[in-house]
Amino acid sequence: MPSWAPNTATVIDKGFGSNRNGAAVTGIVIHHVAGTNGRDYVANWNSRGSHPTYHIAKDGTVTGIVHPDRQPWSSGAIDRNAVTVEIDNTAAREPWPVSDAALESVAKIIAHHAAESSRSGIALNRAGTMREFWVEYHNRIASNGTACPGPYVIGKIPSIIERANELYEGEDMPLSSEDVKRIAAESTRQVWGRVFKAINEDKEYGMPEESAAMRLRRASDRSGRAMVLGRMNSAENKAILAAVSTLADSQGLDGEAIVQAVRDAADKALSNFSITLTAEGDEDE
Ligand SMILES: [Zn+2]
Repeated sequence: MPSWAPNTATVIDKGFGSNRNGAAVTGIVIHHVAGTNGRDYVANWNSRGSHPTYHIAKDGTVTGIVHPDRQPWSSGAIDRNAVTVEIDNTAAREPWPVSDAALESVAKIIAHHAAESSRSGIALNRAGTMREFWVEYHNRIASNGTACPGPYVIGKIPSIIERANELYEGEDMPLSSEDVKRIAAESTRQVWGRVFKAINEDKEYGMPEESAAMRLRRASDRSGRAMVLGRMNSAENKAILAAVSTLADSQGLDGEAIVQAVRDAADKALSNFSITLTAEGDEDE
């Protein structure tokens, strides 16, 4: 199900828009407000029935207006498969400029919905089948000859697409809390994986009468990872938790809750670990 882009600062969703009737979000249609402060206009009833998925202010602030689950009312039938943006202009005159911050916000929104979609990559909309998440703007599809989103934004469409692809592919992509949890769980798994590997190597080559503690020590020594358990519990584990917490905080997420999720994963791994030791080692102690 489509979700709000992570750079959505606030939501003023008064229930405008309509059911997508199962249609997937496969693209975006870009509009400008033709004014410098259109948020309240599109968030509330207006005579044009203009209610986009997002409004973007001059400073780049994104307000959610119609939840991406629903079809926005911005461009016509194409909106059934689209999210839409209405961008505030920095001056209400030709060439209808917008700020760099607003353009960056558009790129982030595109990257988010492209990542959520089953499409691969991002490209300007074109006739026929395309595999990419498509980018369209009002002027190209309107029957009434509107100049929206104005010459300035139209000139920026190639760089918006380029930036969105960069975000879609790369490091700057804003992380959702699910992403952070997944990364944290993966890091935890890798640390514990090293411990298990050391033990299993030892199980394979070690003498059967040795105690589990001896096996662990030998495994650690042999792999050059002396005190692997202690090191994991102190320095390595702390470093991972600190990194996860910082990462979460920097993304505006609840760092504590996510660290707790990692601890739970580690505890679960630890309980498996002690079962292994007990089963293998008790009779020798
Ligand atoms: Zn428009």
